[in-house]
Amino acid sequence: AKLMGGGQIQHFSEELKQAFNRKLTMEGQLRAALDHKELFLMYQPKIALKDGSVAGLEVLLRWRHPQHGLISPVEFIPVAEEAGLIVEIGEWVLKSAVDQCRAWRAAGVPTVPVAVNLSARQFHRTDIVGCVATVVRDAGLAPGDLELELTESMSVQCPERSADLMARLRELGCTLSIDDFGTGYSSLSYLKRLPVDKLKIDRSFVQDMHQSADSLAMVQAIIAMAHSLRLEVIAEGVELQEQLDGLRAAGCDQIQGFYFSKPLSPEDCAAYLREHAAR
Ligand code: C2E
Ligand code: CA
Ligand code: CA
Ligand code: CA
Repeated sequence: AKLMGGGQIQHFSEELKQAFNRKLTMEGQLRAALDHKELFLMYQPKIALKDGSVAGLEVLLRWRHPQHGLISPVEFIPVAEEAGLIVEIGEWVLKSAVDQCRAWRAAGVPTVPVAVNLSARQFHRTDIVGCVATVVRDAGLAPGDLELELTESMSVQCPERSADLMARLRELGCTLSIDDFGTGYSSLSYLKRLPVDKLKIDRSFVQDMHQSADSLAMVQAIIAMAHSLRLEVIAEGVELQEQLDGLRAAGCDQIQGFYFSKPLSPEDCAAYLREHAAR
């Protein structure tokens, strides 16, 4: 502290204070957002490479703030997580997603499984199994209509308990995927012990694979490894034809990204599902 001028320390703590205040403000506003219906969901198609059919949808949370406009989940999910609000929000996401699925079905839209992202806190500190079972049953859907996306880091903290929870969610009939794969530190043997169905290769590898030999090798290795463990592989963040070609050559099962579609509103998604239904 001696090396820094007093002014710098002052400046630093001022910045901290601002960041802290911003977070507090966001926390309060996020609490209100749920009540005021400022949260909504978008749906991004996942495409099966073997036949080009829609294999599923990822549910992505959005916040339309009355003053600041659209706020990214990257910004507000961590705040919600820390404030414990993610539990309520996460439940709302689950409910809304399965309700949407049921509404589509009632309207004769050909539906596919919807994939919901779970946060660490939601997974570890709530009765996630009971919650999922109730939500799915109340909506009159089958658990197979629901896919859950978990991250590697979530299970690393508490591997035994995580594996147990995952097994119970899978017993319900839900499909489980490991999200953002490749960014964490899980070893092959660790992965083998996790009761999951799918790996989702992180966008960072996909986006570099046409210009970086290392990323390409990484993607190819993940796909080969996943297949040897009888896991399906999906690549996220696919934007370019070259990326698609590389993934296809490597034997990737599913693709998600702007190349096929951006996240869609429920209306646009219904149209997309109708248009791309297997004929
Ligand atoms: P994620 O689970 O890795 O979701 C994929 C992100 O990549 C989404 O960002 C999606 O819009 C974006 N994306 C998809 N295709 C492309 C592409 O081709 N190019 C690029 N550049 N981006 C693409 P989004 O919607 O901003 O969500 C960011 C993160 O926020 C998600 O990352 C997820 O970790 C979290 N998140 C979103 N919704 C929820 C939710 O309901 N619950 C929880 N716990 N987390 C959520
Ligand atoms: Ca995800
Ligand atoms: Ca991801
Ligand atoms: Ca990601």
